[in-house]
Amino acid sequence: VLADAPFRMAVVGSGPAGFYTAYRVMSKLPQARVDMYEALPVPFGLVRHGVAPDHPEVKNCKDKFDEVASSPNFTFVGNVSIGHPGHLAEHCTIPLKVLMGHYDSVLFAYGASEDKKLHIPGEASLKGIYSARQFVGWYNGHPDCGQIEPDLSRAEEAVIIGQGNVALDVARILLEDIDVLRKTDISDRALAQLAESRVKRVHVVGRRGPMQAAFTIKEVRELMKLSGVAFHGVDDLLIPAALDTLPRATKRLMEVLRKGTTASVSESPKSWSLDNCLAPKAFVGDKQNPSVVGSTEFYVTKLEDPFNPRSSVARTDETITLPSDIAFRSVGYKSVALPGFAEVGIQFDEKRGIVTNDGLGRATQSSANLAEPVETHPPALPGVYCAGWVKRGPTGVIASTMSDAFTTGDAVVQDWLSGAPFLDRSANGTAKGWEAVKADVNAQADQIVTWDQWRQIDQAETAQGLTRGKPREKFTSIRDMLSSIK
Ligand code: FAD
Repeated sequence: VLADAPFRMAVVGSGPAGFYTAYRVMSKLPQARVDMYEALPVPFGLVRHGVAPDHPEVKNCKDKFDEVASSPNFTFVGNVSIGHPGHLAEHCTIPLKVLMGHYDSVLFAYGASEDKKLHIPGEASLKGIYSARQFVGWYNGHPDCGQIEPDLSRAEEAVIIGQGNVALDVARILLEDIDVLRKTDISDRALAQLAESRVKRVHVVGRRGPMQAAFTIKEVRELMKLSGVAFHGVDDLLIPAALDTLPRATKRLMEVLRKGTTASVSESPKSWSLDNCLAPKAFVGDKQNPSVVGSTEFYVTKLEDPFNPRSSVARTDETITLPSDIAFRSVGYKSVALPGFAEVGIQFDEKRGIVTNDGLGRATQSSANLAEPVETHPPALPGVYCAGWVKRGPTGVIASTMSDAFTTGDAVVQDWLSGAPFLDRSANGTAKGWEAVKADVNAQADQIVTWDQWRQIDQAETAQGLTRGKPREKFTSIRDMLSSIK
């Protein structure tokens, strides 16, 4: 009977985690009805606002998401934020408690909206220092990142702190030929600034060495292939002399780093380097213009075993200074708890930045809610699940987010079929989903973006792109997105 019983699930967030979990649940429980809530008027999360514009093939997963959204059992509720205050007055916010009263299950897949800080002097006070998250959001047209307007016209030396793939994305966008970028869906506001850019030297700085770096070979290769861009070479002492004994993937990465570029540093207009074994100490103001960053001080670090990918690292007393006309911190994204989590008993692990869960995506009950606190394995909170970056932490590509979302989807289906308890709706009767939520919060039709309306935005953006020779010109404000809806 449970196999056929109506099942309603709310999904919070329309990135890969939300869509892949919805897909899994809907294909295994054909009667499932899914309402997906998205804070922005536009779907796809970091596929739209994170993935680099010169990686269009990565965005092909949107076809699958479109297929999911075209099911009659799926409803997109865009421009509606769960818990958080909205972007603008016309933006609708739904308290968590209201949402949970109208579903059998709620899935949190809202990603990571903040970033980790360095907590060093100058970080908060000096101009010219950006988080990679904001910079990426800026060139990808995220409505919240329009105000940063990095001034690239006075910057020759750029420092990026962090050595993951996001750091390499930032480096590539700074170094890439502007005419290549013009043909991508990079936002016009970024193109205008990048066209004025004088950046010719990019330092990608890490606390550890190449053997410990988080980036992957594809991103390194892309940088090595940029025309007119030289690589300064890696410190040979940080890479084993004989690569043959290394695991295949590491060996290939080290080969690419060692080979470097054919372009020579002295003859190329632009260059980049991996600056290893440096831990940020302070940003220092420019001599002429003290309110703007001019250099970054680093402690030199020492690896216990440079060839061990897990080597520990310690700070020494030695310091060095790198000129930095502009600086980026790229040390990771961070998820935060939604307002209302504590009220409904959802536990958020502040340290790891995840919804506390059993590893399979079942949110676990806050011990504060239990008569007898259980320290090690708090029981699952019935009907509450999580997937993606808010479940595992902000790492992993779309493929790993997909398999993780499938794991959560399987847990939902298994629990439903086994008759496990779900959200208690004794106050509201059968789950009526979005229709009932809409009535509760008195949402107005012009505040909500449906899937068909997103399609209108999509078409308008594609049409705008066409006139500029780009696949798409994104709207960069909520107002413009909404006003393109007929
Ligand atoms: P997200 O994609 O962040 O989606 C979360 C969604 O939830 C967002 O749409 C957000 O607006 C919404 N939301 C947030 N709060 C609320 C709320 N309160 N109410 C309603 N909605 C809310 N992977 C690759 O495979 N290839 C790449 O080239 C690649 N490049 C990347 C580049 C960057 C800069 C970054 C940061 C990541 C990149 N990734 C790449 C990784 C990939 O983007 C992630 O693995 C994936 O997007 C994580 O999915 P998610 O659904 O957990 O989160």
